[in-house]
Amino acid sequence: MNSAAIALEPMMPQTHSVREVIKETPDTFTLTLQPEDGAGAIGFQPGQFSMLWVFGVGELPISISGDPGKQDRLVYTVRSVGKATNAFVSQKPGAGVGVRGPFGIGWPVDAARGRDLVIVAGGIGLAPLRPVIYHVLSHRTEYGRLVLLYGARSPRDLLYRKELASWARQRDTQVLTTVDYGGLSWRNHVGVVTTLLKYARLRPAQSVAMLCGPEIMMRFVARDLEGHGFGRRQIYLSMERNMKCAVGFCGHCQYGPHFICKDGPVFTYEQIGPMMDKYEL
Ligand SMILES: Cc1cc2nc3c(=O)[nH]c(=O)nc-3n(C[C@H](O)[C@H](O)[C@H](O)COP(=O)(O)OP(=O)(O)OC[C@H]3O[C@@H](n4cnc5c(N)ncnc54)[C@H](O)[C@@H]3O)c2cc1C
Repeated sequence: MNSAAIALEPMMPQTHSVREVIKETPDTFTLTLQPEDGAGAIGFQPGQFSMLWVFGVGELPISISGDPGKQDRLVYTVRSVGKATNAFVSQKPGAGVGVRGPFGIGWPVDAARGRDLVIVAGGIGLAPLRPVIYHVLSHRTEYGRLVLLYGARSPRDLLYRKELASWARQRDTQVLTTVDYGGLSWRNHVGVVTTLLKYARLRPAQSVAMLCGPEIMMRFVARDLEGHGFGRRQIYLSMERNMKCAVGFCGHCQYGPHFICKDGPVFTYEQIGPMMDKYEL
């Protein structure tokens, strides 16, 4: 293959078939895809994303939410918010979907070895962080304490409820959940995710924090973590912007000097903190 063809290859979707569809919440579904040609390993780093083609509808960037140790499949958790996401979550087992990628720079799981991990997620933001949790739990001795703080709008909007319960039973692992509106049967925390920080078993000097959720949530969490003694280089955030090519050509996802598709989506707070305070950047 010549170099021009190699350069174009990231633009060529490979057809995958839908193997399984799981309803997580009323509007969010997890789909497992496998290559249609039976190709083997599909490597990805926690925090990377794919471009998914729903044939006849369009293409959308979606983070990989599955276990990086299971290389024969790609798993995505998608909230139906518009035309393309609705078409994707409506796919049935056996349907074909085009996949490009994986793309981007993910979470620093290698650099975080030996440290505590503080994972803070809001809503669908737990999806890009789930591969980190799988990775840490299957390499448990290589990491310190795992703290997961997770907030959703209501109890029925919490993703991966069975897994949250099983993660909470793992050694040296703390899982705290909160919701904005609890209802009568909710016996847990109510309030924004930052209110969980005071219950978290934090050791800032030996920790790395990973944040994903609405930008306003990440701004407040990052600010509060700084207040607890985290440095800006210890705090990582995953950013979202509309994107098209996913390889840094088209400029749709430019964010200050960065392209979110190829320089991110994961950045340190030191890199992007100052830009996050700029309105509509
Ligand atoms: C790197 C990356 C990873 C992502 N990972 C996931 C994921 O794991 N799961 C998931 O459900 N979604 C994820 N998204 C968001 C997803 O790509 C958008 O929700 C989707 O493109 C919307 O397309 P649509 O046609 O369904 O909706 P549209 O009709 O295009 O939009 C519907 C609504 O969503 C808003 N919107 C559209 N695109 C985005 C976006 N990129 N970020 C924020 N708001 C947007 C629009 O402003 C509008 O209000 C990710 C986005 C990026 C950039």
